[in-house]
Amino acid sequence: MTIFEDLESEVRSYCRSWPVVFDTAVGSRLTDVDGNSYLDFFAGAGALNYGHNPPALKKPLIEYLQRDGITHGLDMYTRAKGEFLKTFREKVLAPRGLDYKVQFPGPTGANAVESALKLARKISGKEAMINFTNAFHGMTLGALSVTGNSMKRGGAGVPLVHATPMPYDNYFDGKVPDFLWFERVLQDQGSSLNEPAAVIVETVQGEGGINPARIEWLQGLAELCRRHDILLIVDDVQMGVGRTGPFFSFEIAGIEPDIVCISKSISGYGLPMALVLIKPEYDQWGPGEHNGTFRGNNPAFVTATAALREYWSDDALERSTLAKGERVEEAFNKIAADTRTAEVTVKGRGLARGLQFADADLAGKVCAAAFERRLLMETSGPSSEVMKVLPPLTITDDELEEGLAVIAESVRSVTGS
Ligand code: PMP
Repeated sequence: MTIFEDLESEVRSYCRSWPVVFDTAVGSRLTDVDGNSYLDFFAGAGALNYGHNPPALKKPLIEYLQRDGITHGLDMYTRAKGEFLKTFREKVLAPRGLDYKVQFPGPTGANAVESALKLARKISGKEAMINFTNAFHGMTLGALSVTGNSMKRGGAGVPLVHATPMPYDNYFDGKVPDFLWFERVLQDQGSSLNEPAAVIVETVQGEGGINPARIEWLQGLAELCRRHDILLIVDDVQMGVGRTGPFFSFEIAGIEPDIVCISKSISGYGLPMALVLIKPEYDQWGPGEHNGTFRGNNPAFVTATAALREYWSDDALERSTLAKGERVEEAFNKIAADTRTAEVTVKGRGLARGLQFADADLAGKVCAAAFERRLLMETSGPSSEVMKVLPPLTITDDELEEGLAVIAESVRSVTGS
């Protein structure tokens, strides 16, 4: 028995799909302790959009540690935080004409979501939230209350309340007009809906099965929120920081959410960091009203600043992400057409892509077959029916082709097509 099986809690999960011991990683490849190399189509569940140990981030991080820069800073003013804020305004907010105050909650996506929900309740004086079918927002109680997955919700052990689910885009296969039910229950004095403080939405549902909402659906949602005086929270924890192409996933819809949650790839180095972006008029927090020990992860500020300078000074990364995403879509369309013995649907946007199997078990089997060929991928969706592909945005064209060939071979080997 290994030390992991002996000592680590049964809650461990990814290691069950990939039972090897990883040691080093560079770019899009990880190496295990036996020297085997694995191609990464998982990217730390979206936390490694620039790959492993990107040199343009590693150098300033090492220099910062060498000169004894502050590592832990609560929410004290530090040079590293100041430089991050200046760079975030210069590279991200100003070029997009966006005006947000920046809150540093605790360093995880769930922390950002908890904070957003609390703030929306404080601003509006209302407690009810609207969430969407198959949403995923994190594992803490507030975030779980707006998360769809019944197994994850079951882990709460207490009633998850104050959230009402609405159908996400395409929930009824396009047969029902957008927001038919939502508008109706908002307007009907007999509907029993509690007036909502906010709507929380992902523009592409990652854990929910790589479900992209259409641009017009997102615009319709923003318009509905405006008309009914409901705050709009976009959870960009997984799809932000370039995963779908632009820095923010909602940019393509031209909408401006009231509150935005960012985490995962914002530090660019896999170092924990999260942001809540708040329209200035809604920054109604009192000092310390939401806090946490690990809000000032200064090494993460250093790598985040370097990442914004390296990757967001022009639109080269956005363009290459869109081009690589189209290449994945093309390869997946071919796989779907070539697979005669199973029903396969192609899904996604940018470099968040998925292959959905009508026979749910096949998705996991394809991921296992890919792992045998040393490619890392995970499944998502309510029945784990989607083979989910999130390569580093910086993956080379050759590596992308290598991985796509492994996927095609893995699908063939599992379906016998
Ligand atoms: N929101 C979304 C959209 C996510 O995908 C995730 C993580 N998969 C979270 C929130 C929670 O982030 P964390 O695991 O860092 O708490």
